[in-house]
Amino acid sequence: MIKYSLVCDKDHAFESWFPDSESFDQLARRGLVACPECDSTRVGKALMAPAVVGGRKKVEAAVAAESPPANVALVDERQRRLRELAKELRQEIMTKTDDVGRRFPEEARAIHAGEAPLRSIRGQATPDEARALLEEGVGVLPIPPAPDDFN
Ligand SMILES: [Zn+2]
Repeated sequence: MIKYSLVCDKDHAFESWFPDSESFDQLARRGLVACPECDSTRVGKALMAPAVVGGRKKVEAAVAAESPPANVALVDERQRRLRELAKELRQEIMTKTDDVGRRFPEEARAIHAGEAPLRSIRGQATPDEARALLEEGVGVLPIPPAPDDFN
């Protein structure tokens, strides 16, 4: 037994079992395979593979229409420049600040209050600590991630 996906001339799709592929051809030729919906005997096997190819072509066409090469290049260029800027900013911070590590929040407060020498520092702060510092008027900045972190 073999199961065929069939379609009539009015595009009704249905499935039917046949003893073998030859029986389908013979029965269909003699008008003995009828659509269950409209009784049409103009019935053929549903062609699955061409339908898939057609769908894929449609998708490719849609993608090409929505993203012209120029736009893609523009995004890439902007991202490349952002990465360069982030890298420069990171290097600037790394070379021109003292690393105070986890003492960052208290050091930042001390500098802000004038209790410690005015200088640029870097270190670690939790998001809560950074938020508290900002609320106290201490200007802290997130350090851009290293270039490797982008990917
Ligand atoms: Zn039909």
